[in-house]
Amino acid sequence: MNRSRVTLWHPLPVIYLDHNATTPVLPEVFEAMKPFFTERWGNPSSAYRFGSELKGALETARSQVAALIGARSSEVFFTGNATESNNAAIHAALRAKPKKRHIITSQVEHSSVLNYCMALEKDGYRVTFLPVDRHGLLQLADLEAALTDDTAVVSLMWANNETGVLFPVEDIGRLCRSRGVLFHCDAVQAVGKVPVEVTGLPVDYLSLTGHKLGAPKGVGALFVHRKAPFSPYLHGGHQERGWRGGTENVALIVGLGTAAELAKASLSAFERTVRPLRDALEEGLLNQIPDAELNGHKTQRLANTSNIAFRGVDSDALLMLLDQEGLCASSGSACLADSPDASHVITAMKPELRGERNSLRISLGLEHSPASISEALRIIMESVAGLRSL
Ligand code: PLP
Repeated sequence: MNRSRVTLWHPLPVIYLDHNATTPVLPEVFEAMKPFFTERWGNPSSAYRFGSELKGALETARSQVAALIGARSSEVFFTGNATESNNAAIHAALRAKPKKRHIITSQVEHSSVLNYCMALEKDGYRVTFLPVDRHGLLQLADLEAALTDDTAVVSLMWANNETGVLFPVEDIGRLCRSRGVLFHCDAVQAVGKVPVEVTGLPVDYLSLTGHKLGAPKGVGALFVHRKAPFSPYLHGGHQERGWRGGTENVALIVGLGTAAELAKASLSAFERTVRPLRDALEEGLLNQIPDAELNGHKTQRLANTSNIAFRGVDSDALLMLLDQEGLCASSGSACLADSPDASHVITAMKPELRGERNSLRISLGLEHSPASISEALRIIMESVAGLRSL
């Protein structure tokens, strides 16, 4: 299947430039899930066939997710979301190395890693939050210097949700392996946007979530390398081979499997069609709006994400104006949108801003066209100019 454009369930009533926050459920995904709400709603753990036959649907979805990331099916289990996957991976690594009390992560991780690490600090763990440079890049030398004999786990993301900046996952993993340290990678924003191939990759745990790739919210997965230790985070029944208690959400898992298959098929189209549209919008904004600056590395970045600072423009006011014009974007992570604080990602990259909130994150998907992107450019330019004229 070669998907260069996504067909949406309904025409969008808005210009949606917030795919890193969430994505629309694709019609094929919705269709694949439907029977599991209406006809095939049994419990896969039941002994009778009306339930037990659903195990086949779970295994098909598992192999579809495994195929997307180049894993074996036995290395993938389903979770409720990537927040759970991230917590579960770090938890498993710490349980496997009970004498080690040091964790390494970065200052720009998603809150599901950062806040868990901060909670672990209160339990007596020592956490190193690695810095990034002003382009959002991680320096391997900083990681190397932070590793000690007491380090149990390194948790670093593949692609940043606010800037799209990519971390050198393979080099990080190789360094961790050479020091006998477990490595967890939050690949939520990378999966479906760049090739993620775990075969031969020195990664022990890798998290992903459905709602960033055309599946519904509320379903995620964790890859656990066959040689990596694992102990459950959620204790309960024997579901997921005892790795994750709780009756499986069959419909959503089927949705994630279908979305994974579609994402694999559209990976090259994503790069081919989304990157030029993102570049056109970004160049338009940077060239035509005075005092605009890119947050993030120019090239070492996802094809769909652009984060731009407009000097003197309050991002909340800008987002409100854009909303009135039917344009959806954000100033950072959706999970922290209600926080009065500046983005921790931008602050880590540009501490001299001292908490100023003037950044706009736009993140595109496959449904965009040159027409929707020039309309977005017009709306953003007029909104910034309008605010500056006040
Ligand atoms: N990690 C990253 C990088 C994310 O962008 C997100 C979602 O915004 C998550 C983790 C959490 O995913 P979920 O909403 O499935 O818990």
